[in-house]
Amino acid sequence: MAKRVAFAQLSSCWGCDQALVDLHFRLLDVLPDLEVVYWPAVVDYKLSDLKSLPDGSVHLGFVEGSCRTKEDVHILELMREKSRLLVAWGSCSCYGGVQGLANTWPLAQLVQRKFIKTETVTDSRVPEENVPGFVEYIIPNTDRVRFDIILPGCPPTSDNVYDAVVALLTGRPFDLPDTTVCDECPRERKEKRIKEFKRTYQGRPDPEKCLLDQGYLCLGFATIGFCGAQCPKANMPCKGCFGPPPSIRDHGAKIISALGAIADMSPEELENAFPDPVGSFYFTDYAASYIAKVSAGNSGDKGDGEDRR
Ligand code: SF4
Ligand code: SF4
Ligand code: SF4
Repeated sequence: MAKRVAFAQLSSCWGCDQALVDLHFRLLDVLPDLEVVYWPAVVDYKLSDLKSLPDGSVHLGFVEGSCRTKEDVHILELMREKSRLLVAWGSCSCYGGVQGLANTWPLAQLVQRKFIKTETVTDSRVPEENVPGFVEYIIPNTDRVRFDIILPGCPPTSDNVYDAVVALLTGRPFDLPDTTVCDECPRERKEKRIKEFKRTYQGRPDPEKCLLDQGYLCLGFATIGFCGAQCPKANMPCKGCFGPPPSIRDHGAKIISALGAIADMSPEELENAFPDPVGSFYFTDYAASYIAKVSAGNSGDKGDGEDRR
């Protein structure tokens, strides 16, 4: 019997959907085993279609994106109710994603920037009719509902998605590796002391040697080894988009402490090297960091404006 599967999109770029479509002909291996009951990115499903499904009737639910609006929260809770196995699909869903960086500004300021002050805005007004309203903070979906599988990546690779779907269909366990991108990277690493950090446009990196040893901020040492080290293999530093391996609790804190140990630089030099430390060290997972959780916790809400104390 085909397994009923639902794909939900919350606030996101929908790039994780692309990773699924990028399976191309390999989709044919799994499609006969799937009965798609909700996938608004591809078919004109309405929210009422999801609501009308009996609770627990969806075998596999995939949630892409994070909760920026109250409607996102509603869809996430519905997906949990309807799905027997729920997958946090992509770093937005697992950790809050790039949009979690917005937590460093007050919501009112974000709304002003988006709808009033952006240079390309011609009709300066904050929409109020027929819109769901924002939540105050992005928090990881995993802090809102229980997930059965975490599938990080921005986006996860097509291989990651394929392996997860096959594991779910066959009942095999699907565990994340406790390894790092460095473990998958073929470059020679000597763990030199770093005297200066360079941007990627500065100089031409040696394709054989570790990018970090050459002074490029490559975060492979603190990032889960799950993507095949695709950026360093293309001569680009890892930005950490898959988040940390399971044994590292706070991605950015680990990066900062490691940099403190390997950088032969004063605190001032390090500060000047990284004018955007939050964006540099928590590219897709700031919302999952201790500091973001403490900030949200101090406000006394769970990100949606309702007092939870
Ligand atoms: S995890 Fe990355 S690719 Fe996937 S929806 Fe979020 S921003 Fe897009
Ligand atoms: S280039 Fe990056 S991923 Fe490769 S060994 Fe160096 S730090 Fe690790
Ligand atoms: S190498 Fe790093 S930035 Fe590139 S895809 Fe892998 S985890 Fe993401």
